[in-house]
This record gives sequence, structure tokens and C-alpha cells, in this order.
Amino acid sequence: MMKRHSLLLLSLLMVTTMHAQKTRPDAFPPIPDTLAPKVVNMATNLDEMASWDRYPTYEVYIEMMERFVQNYPTLCRLDTIGTSVQNRLILSLAITGIGDTSGRPEFFYSSTMHGDEVTGFYLMLRLCDTLLSSYGSSPDITNLLDRVRVYINPLSNPDGTYHSGNHTVVGSMRYNANYIDLNRNYPDPFGTDPLDSLQVENIAMINYVQNHHFLLSANLHGGSEVMNYPWDSYTSYELLNDHASWWKEVCKRFVDTCRMFDNWRFRDVSNNGYINGGDWYVIHNGRQDYFNYYCGVRELTMELSTSKTLSTDYLRHYWDCQSHALINYIKEIFTINTTTDRIQATTAAQYRTYPNPTRGPITVATPTQVYHYNLSDRPSGVYVISVEGHPVKVVKQ
Ligand SMILES: [Zn+2]
Repeated sequence: MMKRHSLLLLSLLMVTTMHAQKTRPDAFPPIPDTLAPKVVNMATNLDEMASWDRYPTYEVYIEMMERFVQNYPTLCRLDTIGTSVQNRLILSLAITGIGDTSGRPEFFYSSTMHGDEVTGFYLMLRLCDTLLSSYGSSPDITNLLDRVRVYINPLSNPDGTYHSGNHTVVGSMRYNANYIDLNRNYPDPFGTDPLDSLQVENIAMINYVQNHHFLLSANLHGGSEVMNYPWDSYTSYELLNDHASWWKEVCKRFVDTCRMFDNWRFRDVSNNGYINGGDWYVIHNGRQDYFNYYCGVRELTMELSTSKTLSTDYLRHYWDCQSHALINYIKEIFTINTTTDRIQATTAAQYRTYPNPTRGPITVATPTQVYHYNLSDRPSGVYVISVEGHPVKVVKQ
């Protein structure tokens, strides 16, 4: 298993290094949140969250989610997506306006599957608060909530975030309690299964997504500032996403909106602030490609702050420059032509490829046919084989 892991990494490095260098600008603009000394203040009760300049303790986070439902019982409901390895709750707040909700499309925000990337965790809590408290007074948000069912999961890896204990996000970590990277732990269009067994956090998330009909979602991360659109497991040269031009427009609107408030944002990876995931660097078994490829959900990976655990001094500024874009992104659900997405999702799930990576022989199984290929006399690298007109990606070791 370890051997397979290292070989896979080696061959991936070969194809990704070139793109990564190409897309990084030579000169980085100053990004104050990474230069200033870091301050991490925690709110130990609800009152201390009122000024929105702290991260909540785990208990305060749970209390906030419950309080939303108590304060706005006609507008929201609290779903339990599942529980983590250490039995912390993975929650989703389902928000929509009053009236008949059955015909409204479903939208999903989910944050912090990397436990130390907590900017999105804060932003999502604040978004819940803003949507709920603005319903009925802001025509824009009232109209939005009357047309969409919005689901917000502020924290999908609570064990990673509260790795040091429920009282602080200092010492948070990327991984779950089994030290597994949850964003390398989904089935992906590469055809390979994750190297480690599917983690309970991801099993819960997969069940939740399969029990809904999300049309559009975003998965919030930190460590860079860039909109990362699908695919993650292919470069745009290998396989362009069917909706690439739509994604670019959506990403551009997001970035441009943020830059109206702070022109320095989203400049550390590409000048325009967005990139095809695989052109930045290829990853496998990530959530974005799983959602897009297998579930028919258009999911975007949003990298929202260059600092993973943003200093609490900067939280309010990040909300000020990103909140409009986060709200507007929900409206992008109305720009989707829904008819093609689910057809692509069902066919994609039917192409299983093994072994992958391979030293030569490759088998591709569809529901009705089994195809055999041999790459023994080909050099090592990444190949895309067309099977019944469907691209299948193979790594030759
Ligand atoms: Zn991340």
C-alpha cells in the first residue's frame, strides 16, 4: 500500500510541477493577514460572538446553530449530517423563506473539511445569521430565500478544528481524528478508490448529498485566495469541464465583487483570481470532483484566505469584502441549465478502471462491456483513453 502511494505521488509530481510554476505570479502583492502577528480570540459564550471578531468554542458553535432555529423557527431547520470519529456533530442549517418550498432548488455551502482552515467556518456562521436576520427587511435576501433552499454546513471536520480541545481552534489540524485528509478520501473520476478507507465524515456527507438534489454548492478552504473550479483530477489540457466557460464567468463575478471592497484579494495564485483546479495542481479523491462527477452537483472549491487560521483581527474585514460575493454566488443557481448535469453524473459512475496506476494492463468495466488495454510499451505518465467516447484517465507507472 505504501509503495503504491509513493509511486502514485511520483507520477503526479511529474505532471503537475510544470503547471504549478506556470500559474504562480513572480511578484506577490502584500497580503497583510500573513505579515501581521496572529491573534486568535475565542468566544466562550454567545454574547462574545455578538461583535463577530472571534471564533466560537465547539460548545458555542453548537449553541449558535441551535439558537438560529429557536430564533427563526419558520425560516430554518437544523439537520445532523452525521458525527465525526470523536462523536462531534456535523451540522447543516436548512434555510428558506416561508410558503410552499417544494419547487425551490437546493443550494449547499460546506466549509472546513480541512480543520485548520477556519475562515470559512466563521464566514458561514455569519452568513446564517445575516440571511435569517435580513429576511423580511432586505428585499434582496427575502427574494432569494423565497426562491432557493439554502443549506449551510459551517464545519465538516470538527475533530480537526478542535484538535486541541473544544475550547480553542489554536492547534487545529488539517486531518480528521484518524489523521486522514478528508479531501483525498472520495471516489473520483480517475477511477481509483481512495487509498484509505472512506472516513465516517465523508460517508455522512455522501449520504447527505445523495438524499438531496443540490444543483450548486461550494466547499470552503483556506491557505490561498483563489476560486478553484473543476476538474481537480485533470488539467484543462487533459479534460476540460463541460461547464468551464460558465465556471469562469461565475468565478470572475465572485472575485470582482470581493475586489470592489478590497482590491488586494485573490491574487496569490492567479491574477484573475480563479483557476481550473488541475492547472493549479492535480489532486485525486477530492470532494469537488466527486460532487461534480458522481452527484451532478456543480461544486466550486473556494480558497478564501491566504492564512488558514485567519487572525481574528481580520475576520470582520474578510466578511465585509466577501459577504456580498457569497450571497451572490447562491444566485448563480438560476444561471444553471439543469438538464445535462444529471445525465453526465449517472454515466460517469459506470466506468470503473483497474489497476490504476498500472505497469501496463488496464481493464475498464462498464455495465455492459469489459475493455482491456495495455500500456506496457508506453513511457510513464498520464494517459486519457477514450472508452465509448468517454474519457478515462490512467496513470502508467
Ligand atoms: Zn483545504
